Amino acid sequence: MTDRYRQITETVLIISGQDPRQCMACGKCTASCPAYEHMNYHPHQFVSLVKKGKSHMLLDDTSIYHCLSCYACAERCPRGVEPVKLIEAIRLLALREKGANRLTPDAVSQLLDDEMPQQVLVSAFRKYSK
Ligand code: SF4
Ligand code: SF4
Repeated sequence: MTDRYRQITETVLIISGQDPRQCMACGKCTASCPAYEHMNYHPHQFVSLVKKGKSHMLLDDTSIYHCLSCYACAERCPRGVEPVKLIEAIRLLALREKGANRLTPDAVSQLLDDEMPQQVLVSAFRKYSK
């Protein structure tokens, strides 16, 4: 494992505050994930890859942008692991590596329409503005 890969996983663990060693690979998080079909890597696989020090494999994968931040995975975990927080941490790192937010307040007015629920905006800021 290179120093860079080790550093990525250490940063993910610090940001997320999670301990993937608690995971017993039961798969309940993945079974309850509403974004399952859109993800190349599923919640239990996120946990497993971070546990193995392979967080870098997730940085460029589109799965991190399909998470809805619904926290169903965290609610279902019998071991107190919150996969959603690992995903958010990896998404944050991916955004930092790009060197810029993907959504700024100035751009929001161009995206609004009458039927858009406010939750979409809140969720978008959580995902794309760190
Ligand atoms: S928070 Fe994300 S990973 Fe967890 S169940 Fe919801 S969509 Fe899936
Ligand atoms: S529900 Fe918890 S223990 Fe089970 S696979 Fe997911 S993170 Fe691991």
